[in-house]
Amino acid sequence: MTEKLLHKFQTIDDNIKRLNENIAKAALNAGRKENEVSLMAVTKTVPPEEINQAIACGISLIGENRVQELLTKIKHLNLENVQIHLIGHLQTNKVKKVAGEVELIQSVDSIKLAREINKFCQKNSLHQKILLEVNIGEEESKKGFLSHELDEVIHEIATLSHISVEGLMTIPPFCEKSSEIRSYFSNMRKVFIDIDEKKLDNVSMSVLSMGMSGDYEEAIMEGATMIRVGSGIFGARN
Ligand SMILES: *Cc1c(COP(=O)(O)O)cnc(C)c1O
Repeated sequence: MTEKLLHKFQTIDDNIKRLNENIAKAALNAGRKENEVSLMAVTKTVPPEEINQAIACGISLIGENRVQELLTKIKHLNLENVQIHLIGHLQTNKVKKVAGEVELIQSVDSIKLAREINKFCQKNSLHQKILLEVNIGEEESKKGFLSHELDEVIHEIATLSHISVEGLMTIPPFCEKSSEIRSYFSNMRKVFIDIDEKKLDNVSMSVLSMGMSGDYEEAIMEGATMIRVGSGIFGARN
């Protein structure tokens, strides 16, 4: 193994150790248990050997953004006891490539996409768990449902028998201030609880996926059950 790769592996080990410590601290500060928060390694642009190193360090959740990249890398990964989730935008014409291949599609951002996944799963006797992506900052540049649309959307999606909604995912706006980002995360948690209280068929609010390298501590303070960390594990992407 090259010196450079050894050094990279060491950095990944150190980053994961430090993240786990910080997650435990943030959970404690929030009066939560450390094991209420799962750590996903986001692996876009990361080569398989580095992903396998993260898995060797205890990572059991992998998030990929692009279908093609996911399918290319999946065969080189040590996936025993490891789940892969799709976290990037999914075009309806790629549903057939990914439905049934991943544990969770976190980035369902339209009713059309939900219907398409359901249709494909029905035809192939599959069942797919999904999260609904919420555009909590109501940004033009971002995908996802607006929070005020969710009430109607969730009732329709609940009727689709071959998918089940397991929770919500968001990427909030970039914020300078910690208090500002916390208010977006806090709004997400309110939406999450509101939907949970409806007790709909095929809908359970068990995963609240929010928080990335720069803001996962705030997300944990506000109730995240899954954080998605890329550069904080593997270093900056180019
Ligand atoms: C890239 C990405 C992340 C991780 O971002 P980092 O800032 O590198 O931690 C998390 N979620 C989604 C949807 C992403 O695309």
